[in-house]
Amino acid sequence: MESRWRQADAEGLEGVALLVYVSRLIGRERDLVLWGGGNTSVKVQAADALGRPVDLLFIKPSGADLASIREEEFAPLRLEDLRPLRGREALDDAGMVDLVACALSRPAAARPSIEALLHAFLPQRFVLHSHADALLALCNHADGAGRVREVLGTDVAAVPYRRPGFALAREVAEACAGMKEGGACVLLKHGLVTFGDDARAAYERHIELVTRCEQALPLPAVGEAAPPDRDRAARLGPQLRGALGVRRVLLFDDDPEVRAALSDEALLERTQRGPATADHLIRTGRVPCIVRGPEDVVRYREAYGEWASGDREGLERLPSAPHVMLAPGVGMWTCGRTFEEAVVAHDLYRQTLRILQRAGDGWEPIDAEQALHAEYWPLQHAKLQRFGPGELEGRVAWISGAAGGIGSAIARRFAAEGAHLILCDIDGDAVEALAREIGIHALALDCDVTDEAQVQDSFRRACLGYGGVDIVVSNAGIAHAALLEELTLEDWRRSMEVNSTAHYLVARAALPILREQELGGAFVFVASKNVPAPGAGFAAYSAAKAAQTQLARVLALEAAPLGVRVNVLHPDAVFEGSGLWSAEVRRERARAHGVPVEELEDFYTRRNLLRTRVRPQDVAEAALFFASDRSSRTTGATLAVDGGVREAFPR
Ligand code: ZN
Repeated sequence: MESRWRQADAEGLEGVALLVYVSRLIGRERDLVLWGGGNTSVKVQAADALGRPVDLLFIKPSGADLASIREEEFAPLRLEDLRPLRGREALDDAGMVDLVACALSRPAAARPSIEALLHAFLPQRFVLHSHADALLALCNHADGAGRVREVLGTDVAAVPYRRPGFALAREVAEACAGMKEGGACVLLKHGLVTFGDDARAAYERHIELVTRCEQALPLPAVGEAAPPDRDRAARLGPQLRGALGVRRVLLFDDDPEVRAALSDEALLERTQRGPATADHLIRTGRVPCIVRGPEDVVRYREAYGEWASGDREGLERLPSAPHVMLAPGVGMWTCGRTFEEAVVAHDLYRQTLRILQRAGDGWEPIDAEQALHAEYWPLQHAKLQRFGPGELEGRVAWISGAAGGIGSAIARRFAAEGAHLILCDIDGDAVEALAREIGIHALALDCDVTDEAQVQDSFRRACLGYGGVDIVVSNAGIAHAALLEELTLEDWRRSMEVNSTAHYLVARAALPILREQELGGAFVFVASKNVPAPGAGFAAYSAAKAAQTQLARVLALEAAPLGVRVNVLHPDAVFEGSGLWSAEVRRERARAHGVPVEELEDFYTRRNLLRTRVRPQDVAEAALFFASDRSSRTTGATLAVDGGVREAFPR
């Protein structure tokens, strides 16, 4: 590992500013820390709020990311309140958290790292802690201490594994007593601590020790990978997702390195022994699930239940679903309530696979009991707390015509409720822009819904992109206005193809996935007020929309045994952002109603009972109702979003 220290960049920096510099050097090295792992601190003399001199420990807050940390993020703790604690016989976690909180010189600061006392008890100014890959490969071993002495030298301390807290902090302080510059301590089966009054020396000592581990345990050459099998992945994804027992989105990875690792039987066996460091536990689970089919997920969940029936320190049981699934010959899935969580689990487990490759057969991580003690730990569970889970959290919604007025309003509304989206539109650029706006919860697909192969492929992409699909909003449509005598066969057929046949293609492609998943699901068809109340000069559109509505009703009958609900929206006169209301259609409809074209929108507003303008967000709200569990007892229904329109004909 190369030192990233650039004296020119560090020149003139001191105290917390220098700590920021060195923290980011560590944070940017994936082989040292990932996603909020590790922590750093500095001890400085400063003035308190009243101007009195005070010794402060600035430490990384829990969960902050070293790669991007800023000066104001570090939590300042009064050392005179912390140092005397070392003399105590014992201190439980709750007591420790309390005392650390009381030592904050800025009460509004973020919660300090749970390893704050470890930093406080070491006298040196700079303390750096990482979960370096190569070091974990070395020290997750029956004779970890012996290997540390052999590879890193006798001047490096090693303390046995124990959950962070007061006792570990005291043990480290005792093991490191008398060390000066370049001091180092290995927390066996956990990570590395280096320290010194000089930031550069502490950092370079860290890099030097990790480099020695890398040299002692080089990453073996990657074997030949089995060829990728995306078809199998697209089939297996929804089956596994359905077996999880909780609603999750899945991230799939089958790059050659992963496939090669998964074809190594010995390595797969090592994955089942435990995590590389307890810090990863709540993100990756104790062990991944090796899957050949969904029944393996079921078995995994049973085993988890047994394991988690041990002492959970009063904490509620976490879902038994695996966070990581390894399918030899296919690839790796990671699961999350959100895609972000799946990404964190993915990155940590990719790193773990490399650690396991380096480690070889002597791999011996923390045991099942230690892992339970680490997973069910109030201080870790605090990291899982999040605010405001949305109504569609963990769900995947496929939406056609997503770039249009109604489609994009539905996409934004669903995204705000935590859904992950497959956005299809024939306007590839527009749908791409929408997906960019929404972020990693959306995939954009340039898709013509009248093309059978493209529709099939869009659902396959949903399975590979997020693991499956729960909600299908079949919304894409076109309008064509012409009196029957003037309507060409070509325009009639085109309307039938887009407004009717395409919905059949969508239903037929989605249904097998919903069947495999066994998670229920919801179809929402966006039809039109023209179905109950057609307008003259709108035959091609109204007839096709009537066919779409009838298709939905039959689908409701056929999908009900799967717990899949099918409902229809009948909006009217939604102009905003609409591709349907082309200049030509506006002209035609204005003529049909005998109003000037510039008054057409007002005409529709005046026409409905509520005398109101129907907006895309009104349709989106209705779509959300049908997509969510709020309408769990409703299928085969139609909801008008039209301001109230008198029907042209009695039903
Ligand atoms: Zn740690």
